[in-house]
Amino acid sequence: MWTYLNGEFIPKEEVRVSPFDRGFLFGDSVYEVIPSYNNKLFLFDEHLERLRNSLSITKIPIPESLEDLHPLAMELLKKNQFLNQAIYIQITRGVDPERSHVSANTTVPTLFMSSTELEINPYRENPHKKGLKIKLEEDIRWKRCDVKATTLLPNIIPFHREEESDSDEILFHDGQKINEGSKSNVFFVFEDLIVTPPKEQNILLGVTRNYFLKRLSEEGFNVTEKEVRIKDLNKADEIWVTSSTKEIQPVHQVDNMVLPGKELEEYYWHKALKVLEEDLKSNC
Ligand code: PMP
Repeated sequence: MWTYLNGEFIPKEEVRVSPFDRGFLFGDSVYEVIPSYNNKLFLFDEHLERLRNSLSITKIPIPESLEDLHPLAMELLKKNQFLNQAIYIQITRGVDPERSHVSANTTVPTLFMSSTELEINPYRENPHKKGLKIKLEEDIRWKRCDVKATTLLPNIIPFHREEESDSDEILFHDGQKINEGSKSNVFFVFEDLIVTPPKEQNILLGVTRNYFLKRLSEEGFNVTEKEVRIKDLNKADEIWVTSSTKEIQPVHQVDNMVLPGKELEEYYWHKALKVLEEDLKSNC
C-alpha cells in the first residue's frame, strides 16, 4: 500500500513523521475521508470545501499541495489499485523545533494521505440485514464540532468501555437534544417526515448528510432540519446514520428501545439508498 507525505509517494511501511509534529504533540490537525467508487472520487468538491473551512477556523496554513489535491488523490487511488477506496487526508500545523503552544513561524504544514479498500455498504447487498445497535451518550465534545479535527478522544473512549463494546455507534445528546453519532450524522423518520438535527447544533456538517438533504428534497420527499429530543425517540418510525464510508444505514435499536418493523419497500432509508445508488451509477 502507498501513502503520500509532503510531496512524495511512500510505501506504507516506510512512511514517517516526526514526534515534534504538532499533529502528534497537540492533535493540532484536521482531516477528511473521501470515498471513491470505480476509481472516481465522490463529492470531492464538497470535501475540499469543508477541509478549507477546517483549515481556516484553526488557522492552520494551507499546504502548497492542496491546489493539486485531486490529481494527487487520483494518483494514490491508482497506486493502491482497489476499485473502491476511502482516502484519508490529514493536515497538521507541521513540525516545530520544540514543543510550544505557539507554533514557530517557520512551521510548514504536513499533508498526509493514505487509502484503504472501501467496504461496500452491507445494506446494499442485503437490505434485510438487521439494523445497527446504538447507544445514547452525553455529548462531552468541544463546541466546534463543525471543524473536522483529529482530536477525537470523546468519540473513541465509549467504544473502549466494555458495556459499549457491542455498540455499532454512539449517539451524542446535549441534555435532551440529539446531536449526531460519534462517526456519523443521524436522521429520524416520523410518519412521512424525514428530520435531521440543524447546523446550529454542535455537529459536523456531514457531506453525506448534506447530500441526502438536497437529493431527497429534490426527489420530493418531505425532509427538514429540526431539533429532535430524547423524548421523541419512541415516536420515530425509523432512524438512520449517514457517513462517507457507511453511506446510509438503518438503526434497529437505541439503548433498550427497538424500532418498529415494516415491509422493506416502505422504509425511507431504503428509498434514500436507491437514490444514492442511481447517482453513483451516473457518477461512475
Ligand atoms: N459526524 C461525525 C462526528 C463524523 O466523524 C462523521 C464522519 N466523518 C460524520 C458526521 C459524517 O460526515 P461525512 O458524511 O462527511 O462522512
